[in-house]
Amino acid sequence: SSWDRQVRASASPRRPHGLSVLVTGAAGFVGSHCSLALHKRGDGVVGLDNFNSYYDPSLKRARQTLLSRNSILLIDGDLNDHRLLSKLFSLTHFSHVLHLAAQAGVRYAIENPASYVHSNIAGLVSLLEAVKSADPQPAVVWASSSSVYGLNDKSPFSESDRTDRPASLYAATKKAGEEITHTYNHIYGLSITGLRFFTVYGPMGRPDMAYFSFTKSILAGKPITIYRGKDGVDLARDFTYIDDIVRGCLASLDTAGKSTGSGGKKSGPAPYRIFNLGNTSPITVPTLVSILEKHLKVKAKKKIVEMPGNGDVPFTHANISLAMAELRYKPSTNLEAGLKKFVKWYISFYGRSSRVGRKTNL
Ligand code: NAD
Repeated sequence: SSWDRQVRASASPRRPHGLSVLVTGAAGFVGSHCSLALHKRGDGVVGLDNFNSYYDPSLKRARQTLLSRNSILLIDGDLNDHRLLSKLFSLTHFSHVLHLAAQAGVRYAIENPASYVHSNIAGLVSLLEAVKSADPQPAVVWASSSSVYGLNDKSPFSESDRTDRPASLYAATKKAGEEITHTYNHIYGLSITGLRFFTVYGPMGRPDMAYFSFTKSILAGKPITIYRGKDGVDLARDFTYIDDIVRGCLASLDTAGKSTGSGGKKSGPAPYRIFNLGNTSPITVPTLVSILEKHLKVKAKKKIVEMPGNGDVPFTHANISLAMAELRYKPSTNLEAGLKKFVKWYISFYGRSSRVGRKTNL
């Protein structure tokens, strides 16, 4: 059928030895950027996303428009649709799966715990089952999260640090994802790379994240709520610019190594890797706000309140030596420069008055 032909065409690399990648969550923030970057260097890309309404679906549709302008096929489908996944894997031989689809956010879990189980646990297993049955089995690179470090008091966080104190259901499902992918690695020989992203930000970013919602409120003249720890210490995050994360994802795909099939008996064990992808310089939330004020040329109305104990950790800080050594990962954009690019995009997309949105111009 013409759909089958579209899948095969979009999955075909345009360069010799190019990759053929299924990108899940391709209508999302990180997924859309990675899809475009892979396509740009000549790799084949097929996207999958269920376009859920966790945040502004028009932003997801706008990212889809950008992908389709680059002839990247983005399929509207759910990770749990096992028939769709087997059909995809039987139509074409993906060399890699870049799995970025998930229910993100820590506070949303209080009202919507089931959506974390649906996407981050059941959806992950459904995808891994499809990968397991594919022949040859593609290598899997997937997004874990810095949140697995939970209430870690050691800083910076290294991959070998303890991850047994998740502070939210979101963090617990990412930690579970690491155990589940590890099991598929050692039982079925899947090549697995888990990436612990640290607070990713940038153009086409996620409206539920603080830098984004602060920008919207500051421009609208509305007060913003800044959380502070019980001890009066400011919260801090190791903000990482989207282009740095994209480079880390592509380097992970390029070095993923092959799946070896059940038990990896023929050619030794399949690789199981975990990397921090962060920026190594935590910035406090008040500093984040002052950088936004500078770029927006508007003073924020601030409300400072004690952090409710429902999922946020006080700080994150990545040790990235492993990714530097094995992926040649080296973040190159600081928060000041990255937020400048975000603000420029935000104003071109939504306008300075957020109610009158020009919602088609990415
Ligand atoms: P995002 O919400 O923008 O993208 C995720 C996409 O997955 C969305 O478009 C959503 O519609 C889709 N999706 C969700 N459930 C699905 C399902 N069951 N089937 C098909 N599609 C589904 O989030 P993002 O910021 O781009 O994050 C990408 C990945 O990185 C996620 O796994 C997230 O948990 C992880 N991560 C992100 C950050 C960050 O700061 N952005 C930090 C750590 C980890």
